[in-house]
Amino acid sequence: MERIAIFPGSFDPFTIGHASIVERGLPLFDKIVIGVGINESKRSLYSVAERVEAIRRLYVDEPRIRVVSYNDLTIDLARRENARFILRGLRSVKDFEYERDIANMNERLSGIETVLLFTEPHYSSISSSVVRELIAFGKDVEEFLPHPKKVEE
Ligand code: ADP
Repeated sequence: MERIAIFPGSFDPFTIGHASIVERGLPLFDKIVIGVGINESKRSLYSVAERVEAIRRLYVDEPRIRVVSYNDLTIDLARRENARFILRGLRSVKDFEYERDIANMNERLSGIETVLLFTEPHYSSISSSVVRELIAFGKDVEEFLPHPKKVEE
């Protein structure tokens, strides 16, 4: 059976921290489905369609990655995608209890296991919310955003 993981998030926007989790997840799974969650209660900078498009562009040459949006529970997306795993990044103790509660609940409801990867230290203070704040004040955020890999000549 294929090992498929959902990497769920808001990705508003998708940062180099997110990209690092995807890259480190690829050797662990056969496929990763990046799920852009539609959360009506969160004010967003980019539309869901824009976020999906930006992430797809990054991974056009990686057939093991799919990018979709969803507006129900991550475990429901996992069922649709035949995924038995959820992939998440853990930046700090602040993330820990939140991630543990959701992971426990998801396991209890669906048997889907959550795989947490510790964020690499140099990415641990990068968050979509900080990047949005910088954008709002007109700062250049290019260094925090991933760029499609150039094909080597
Ligand atoms: P959510 O709104 O669900 O927290 P995010 O888009 O903020 O969604 O994050 C999605 C996932 O990426 C989460 O597991 C989060 O911990 C992880 N993540 C966010 N920023 C980083 C980072 N800088 N390095 C590694 N993982 C990160």
